[in-house]
Amino acid sequence: MHRRQRYRVLLLLLLVSCLLSSCAADPAWNQPQKAFRIYGNTYYVGTHGLSSVLITSPAGHVLIDGALAESVPLIVANIRSLGFRLEDIKLIVNSHVHFDHAGGIAELQKLTGAHVAASKWSADVMKQGAVPRDDPQFGTITPIARVARVETFKDGDALIAGAVTVTAHLTPGHTPGGTSWTWRSCEGARCLDLVYADSLSPVSADGFLFTSSKEYPHALDDFEQSFSFLNTTPCDILITPHPEASNLWQRLEQRNSNPDALIDRNACRALAEDFRERLTRRLAAERSK
Ligand SMILES: [Zn+2]
Repeated sequence: MHRRQRYRVLLLLLLVSCLLSSCAADPAWNQPQKAFRIYGNTYYVGTHGLSSVLITSPAGHVLIDGALAESVPLIVANIRSLGFRLEDIKLIVNSHVHFDHAGGIAELQKLTGAHVAASKWSADVMKQGAVPRDDPQFGTITPIARVARVETFKDGDALIAGAVTVTAHLTPGHTPGGTSWTWRSCEGARCLDLVYADSLSPVSADGFLFTSSKEYPHALDDFEQSFSFLNTTPCDILITPHPEASNLWQRLEQRNSNPDALIDRNACRALAEDFRERLTRRLAAERSK
């Protein structure tokens, strides 16, 4: 086959596979968003549809999530617009390894030279790029760009970069490697508990059953572990990989009249409740089949 023909066939295959599945990203996800301070040394540097959070210190910064591969220029511009340097990012971590939250990590690692750390399951996916069979969305989502060097951590480990410490909490369910992050940020003497809580939506490919998956048999126990984290973790400000899942834009608008509008000590429990309702509906639908 000639080169051009081969290219056409490839394009056609890609188009067909996108039509059959959810390969295309939602165009709203990559809308630009001006970077802003969430609280203290914590900044929002993501796009309007996908979160990316920078936690800064004079000795180095931590970046949580890399959104889509196409989001990288926006994230980079946002970080620079705040006056921070890419090469001062020492550590990049992730919520879960789907293309809309981890797609930009390979490129961000190249640009910053940062360490990348992930749960064991997520680290394997990052190193291989491919979506594994025990991901509930196996077969419907595009793989991420492979990440060259990935370190791993265990549940509850504290990761330090510069003067920033973030704690990893395994919150599986949406994927077997899902991770949430907690840290403290201060303004003067007032320090708050911040939580970056991973998605816990029971979304899957057709044919996958959370009630009886051979590939992911402990999915329901995993959701319980994750709900119990959200119900018990100190939580002053909640941020989620999809900002609208925690009403970030409404809360930000309210901040014009109320400087504490991002603070909601019930937000993590409310999020757990929301995801639990979705799981309950999903399980009822699976059992009625
Ligand atoms: Zn996802």
